[in-house]
Parts: sequence; structure tokens; C-alpha cells
Amino acid sequence: SRRNHEQQIHQLAVTDKLTGLLNRHAFSGKLASLIAEADKMQRKIAIAFIDLDHFKLINDTWGHHAGDQVLVAASNILMHHTREYDEVGRYGGEEFAILMPGLSLLEAAAAAERICTLIAAKPVIVDGNAITVTASMGVACFPAANIVNLNELLKAADQALYQAKKRGRNQVVTTVDLNTGDV
Ligand code: GH3
Ligand code: MG
Ligand code: MG
Repeated sequence: SRRNHEQQIHQLAVTDKLTGLLNRHAFSGKLASLIAEADKMQRKIAIAFIDLDHFKLINDTWGHHAGDQVLVAASNILMHHTREYDEVGRYGGEEFAILMPGLSLLEAAAAAERICTLIAAKPVIVDGNAITVTASMGVACFPAANIVNLNELLKAADQALYQAKKRGRNQVVTTVDLNTGDV
């Protein structure tokens, strides 16, 4: 039917072909509307930025085709270990993001930790080779002291992700270090 056809076209426009996740454009749209809603309803919303570690090395070692399968495997873990009302997007090549409406920074950090551990624990089998991949994650929550709009939320999550890389990868960093209180 015409309606079905229109739905198919819409599905193609919002979906990343390789992984089946929301593409960056669609994810950004959800992000903007969910932040606006959280703001209006005075609710929290958390975001996790995820970047696979040393992914170039995986491509260089095992080939681009294997790299693609690692991306699909990581995406499946993200999809299957988030809640129904979370949004998962592919932000760029080996970069993903999860939007978690209603979660505090602590709750979102715990969710990210679980996913981070799962990714590292499950090697991806390609052509009989077991390829281990890890992820670094930066988590931030809106609203917070220095996070009162969308741009500040993205910037905070990005900085946290940068710290996760800097501290040695395969880990989750939140905007405020929960152990030391350091920013
Ligand atoms: P870091 O731990 O610092 O994130 O290192 P990295 O190697 O993951 O980061 P870098 O940005 O140097 O490399 C990312 C690589 O991801 C380079 C690019 O070729 C690869 N890539 C991007 N998109 C795709 C894709 O769709 N498929 C495959 N197989 N590789 C991709
Ligand atoms: Mg990257
Ligand atoms: Mg990377």
C-alpha cells in the first residue's frame, strides 16, 4: 500500500545501512526533541558517546570487511542492552551514541559500564578469527551545573570520552569523576 511504501522510504532515510541503528541525522533530531521535552517536563536525560578503541588497527589487521562485522556486532550489543525508550545512533564511522531519557548521571554510567564490559568480553568471530574489540565511553547528564542546553551536554560527553581515551581506553568516564569529584 501507499502507506507501507511511505514507511519504507522513511525507514531508509533514518537508518544507518550497515548497522541498522539511527543515522546521525535522525539521532540528532531525536536528541533535540528529547532534550526539549526533558527541559519542559523538568526531567533528566543522559547521553553516552561511544568510540571503538584502536579501530583502525582492526581494519589494518583483519581487513575492512572484518571491521564492518565488528561494527555490526558492537551495534547489536548496544541495541540489545538498552531500554526500549533509549535511542541508539551511529554518529560516525566507529562512533555511536545512546540517549537515555530519565536516567541520572550515576544510572547512565552504570548502564554504560555494563555495555562496555559486554563489548570487551565478546570477541567477534570473522572467518574463524576471534577479534577482540573494546570501547571508550563518555557520559553526561542534562541538566547539571554546567549543562543547561544541548550544546553543553554534547560538549561534556565529548570531553568525558576524550578523558576515557586518555586514561587508557576500554572504560567509561563521566563528566564529573564520581570517585574524586574532579571535573
Ligand atoms: P582510538 O582508539 O583513538 O579511537 O583509535 P581509532 O583507530 O579507533 O581511531 P581512528 O579515528 O584513527 O580510526 C577510525 C577508523 O575507523 C578509521 C576508519 O578507516 C575506520 N572506519 C570508519 N568507518 C568505517 C566503516 O564503516 N567500516 C570500517 N571497516 N571501518 C571504518
Ligand atoms: Mg573515532
Ligand atoms: Mg576509535
